[in-house]
Order: sequence, then structure tokens, then C-alpha cells
Amino acid sequence: MSDLDRLPEFLDTLDAEFHARGDWGAVASYIPELARVDPAQFAISVALADGRLISAGQARKPFSIQSVSKVFSLACVLSRFGESIWHRVGREPSGDRFDSILLLEQEEGRPRNPFINAGALVTTDELLAGRAPKEALSEIIGFLRASAEDDDIHIDADVAASENATGHRNRALAYYLKSFDNLVNAPELVLGTYFHQCAIEMTCEQLALAGRGIAGLPGAPMLLSEVKRRRIAALMMTCGHYDGSGDFAFRTGLPGKSGVGGGILLAIPGRASAAIWSPGLNAWGNSQVGTEAAERLARFTGWSVFG
Ligand code: GLU
Repeated sequence: MSDLDRLPEFLDTLDAEFHARGDWGAVASYIPELARVDPAQFAISVALADGRLISAGQARKPFSIQSVSKVFSLACVLSRFGESIWHRVGREPSGDRFDSILLLEQEEGRPRNPFINAGALVTTDELLAGRAPKEALSEIIGFLRASAEDDDIHIDADVAASENATGHRNRALAYYLKSFDNLVNAPELVLGTYFHQCAIEMTCEQLALAGRGIAGLPGAPMLLSEVKRRRIAALMMTCGHYDGSGDFAFRTGLPGKSGVGGGILLAIPGRASAAIWSPGLNAWGNSQVGTEAAERLARFTGWSVFG
């Protein structure tokens, strides 16, 4: 029996252990709709290279993917416009909070990377180019549906409205970017699109399936070129967990992208794609239990991009 045959049992053990321990971290409170989510929840799904999908916990319960959406908005921009986005956004870890404005002044409005909020706003602005927000959002959702081979993926309008009502920091970032001429569209248009993209709801099963293309799994719908999917995975590794990116890479050895809804997407090149969800967060705003689950999964399987 290979280790992967024992994966279902291992994932169930993790689920039982986390519930028995009951130390979940705190849910994000700055988006009122997310503050209402019960932190005592866990789900994990692993899509393997041989086509198996192995899950434990509440893997069919939709959650707010939040910043995990930034992986897919970047994928859409790279597919549609090629490399032009890099004139407007960098590719370096920021070492600052996900919503920090600090470096924007020093670096004259060019965000460090597309996964911090400022960089994601620029990516969404690029995706909007001459189109209505509905079309840009349809492109992201269409990309997710095609990647997951599942049309039942939607936006939770209440979460989008909730963030729109309280997203003062993102508003500050968008207007600041505009002052440096690094937003083409009106800040409110970009913000509205960005809040809706963050409010996409998916289950762990759907997200694990959607990540197969980035992991380059055989048999997955390939919407990205080899070079692009490798670059997206490299950015997930270096920038996917904000100022906790170094720690996440150290603990897991895997490219991952977190969201403040408690989701984590892992792309394990050639081997698997995994989605983990537990809404309680650690000090960096990444899922506390989700990070531990990713680390335990990496140790159990021996998966690491470092061989
Ligand atoms: N919508 C969230 C925000 O912009 C996303 C942040 C995250 O998931 O880390 O604040």
C-alpha cells in the first residue's frame, strides 16, 4: 500500500484531531459578513495526478475564496494580455501586511506583487480594460468553472456588499494607485469588481479541481501555457501568504495562496492540487488550522518542490 492509498484515512484523522483540539484562530472581523462565520470548521480536498479526488471534513460546503481569487484574476490577465502587467506590478514579496500602503509611496505606486491587495487591484484594473465589470467578472468565473469542470460556481452578493460597505483600506489603496496613474479605470469601478471577485464562493472540492491546471496535472483542462502556470506557482510560493510567505514556504515547501475567508490553495507541480478551508486566521491573516494542515499534508506525502 502506498502512502497515497492511506491519504483518505490521514485526512480524516486531521479533521478529527482539529475538532478535538478546538484551537481555531479568529475569523476576519473587518468584513462583517465574514465575521459571522463559525471558526470551528475544517475541510480539505486533494486532487491527485491519477484523477482521484480525496476529501475530509466539510469539503462540499461553499466558502468565500477572497484572495485565492487573485491567482485566477492573474491567470486571466496573463492569458489575455501576456506579460504587459509587469510594467505595473512587481514580482517581489512585500514583507508587509496584505493591505499595507507603506511601500506604495516609496515605490511610486507600483505594488510589489499581484497578490497583495494593491497589486490585485492593479491586476483587476488591467482585466477591466475597456470592458464592463460584468464581463471581467464573467471571465474570472468562466476560468474557474472551466478549470474545475463545474458550472455551479457563483458570487455571494452579500459578502461583496459587506466588503463594499467597510473596505476603507482598499478604497485608500485604489485612490492612492490612481494618484500615481497606475489605475486606468475609476477607482470605484475597480473596487466594485475586486470586491465581487473576492466574494466568489467555492467548495474545497471545486477549488482543488480548479487548481489542477496550475499544478499541471495530466487530464486537467489546460487553460494556461506551461510557462505561465510555472510563473503563477512561483509567485504563490514567494508571495502567496503575504508577510507570512517565508514561513509558509519553510513549513510546507509548496506554492500556496491564502484568502482571508480561511481558504488555501496548494499547487503541487505534477502531483496534486489541494484546497484547505478553516476560517480562523493566524496573525498574518492566513488560516491557522489550514496552514497546519498544509504542513502536515506535505510531511505525510513527502511533497515539496525542493525534491
Ligand atoms: N477581500 C479581501 C480584502 O481585500 C481579500 C484579502 C485576503 O483574502 O487576504 O481585504
